[in-house]
Amino acid sequence: MPFVLLKYLRNAGFNMKKQACIFLDRDGVINFERGEHTYLIEDFKINDGLFEGLQKLQKKEFIFIVITNQSGIALKKYTHAQMEACHQKMIDEANKYNLKFEAIYFCPHHPTVSKCLCRKPDSLLLEKAIAKFNVDVNASWFIGDKQRDCDAAHKVGVKSILLPSNKNINEVLHLIL
Ligand SMILES: [Zn+2]
Repeated sequence: MPFVLLKYLRNAGFNMKKQACIFLDRDGVINFERGEHTYLIEDFKINDGLFEGLQKLQKKEFIFIVITNQSGIALKKYTHAQMEACHQKMIDEANKYNLKFEAIYFCPHHPTVSKCLCRKPDSLLLEKAIAKFNVDVNASWFIGDKQRDCDAAHKVGVKSILLPSNKNINEVLHLIL
C-alpha cells in the first residue's frame, strides 16, 4: 500500500489490524446492579474481581468497549451529566489498574418515550463500535448479565457469555482464555 495512503488511514484513526474486543455491559457486569437505576457516583461500585479479570484479558490483547442501555435519561430519572460522572469514576478506577475502555456507547432512549435502534437487544451501538475500532467479530465476546446483551451480540456475530448479575467475571474467563 502506498505510504501516503497508509498515513492517511492512520491519521483518519483507521486501524489496519483487526482488533479482538471484549464488549461489556455496564450495570451488573462492571458495577453493582442494585435493582434500580444507578446514577450517583456513591452508588456506583465496581464489582469484585472485575479489573483483575480485565487485566488477564488485556494480556491477550483484547480491547474493551462498554455497551450500555441508560434509559433513565429518557425517563428523566437522571441526567446525561450524572451518567458521565459515573463513567468518569469507572475510567479513573480502571486507570489504577492500567486498564482503559476504548469507548463507552450508551443508549439514552426508552421505548415508552422514543423508539430507537441502539437500545439492546438492537445492535446499532455494537455496529458502530465494530466499524470504528475495526473489531474482529469472530475473535470477540460480549459479557452481559441479560439475555438482551447476548441477543444484540449474536446479531453481529459476536459470541456472548451470560454472567449472572454481580458475579465475579473471573469465574467465566476460562470460556475465553
Ligand atoms: Zn437508543
